[in-house]
Amino acid sequence: MTCGNCTSADIRKLSLVYESGLTFVGVSSGGKTIRGQNMTAVSLKAAPPARRGLVGWFLLFFLSAIFIQFSLWWILGAVVGLGKFVEHLMWNTRTYPILYRQWDAAYMCERCGAMGEPTPTTGDVRTIDVTPLEPPKQALP
Ligand SMILES: [Zn+2]
Repeated sequence: MTCGNCTSADIRKLSLVYESGLTFVGVSSGGKTIRGQNMTAVSLKAAPPARRGLVGWFLLFFLSAIFIQFSLWWILGAVVGLGKFVEHLMWNTRTYPILYRQWDAAYMCERCGAMGEPTPTTGDVRTIDVTPLEPPKQALP
C-alpha cells in the first residue's frame, strides 16, 4: 500500500500514530494524585473522532422539566434540551461508528503527512527467494 498523495510506501496506520504519541502521567502532591495525558502534535492530529456529549443536554431537559411548575417559559429549555439530547444520541449511534471505522482504516504518510485510505499496490509484489540453511554435516565436538 502506498500514500494516495505522494505514492510513498512509508505509511503508518492512523491509530498507531495516535497511540504512539500518547503519554499517561500521574503526579502525586500532598496525598492527591493528579492523572492526565500528554499528546504530541502529530498524535493530536491523528486523534479519533469524539462522541458528542449527552450529559449537559439531559441536565438542561431535566432541570427545565422541574422548573416548568414555576414558569411555563421553562418549556423552551425542556424542548431544546430534549431535542439536542436526541440529536446527539442519534449522531453517536449512527454517524460516529461510520467515522470511527473510517479513522480506523486510515493511514498517515510519513513523507507528506497526508491522512486517508492508502492506495493498494497493484501487481508488482516482490517475493524473496529464501533458501533454507543446511544443517551442519559434522557434529560439533
Ligand atoms: Zn504521502
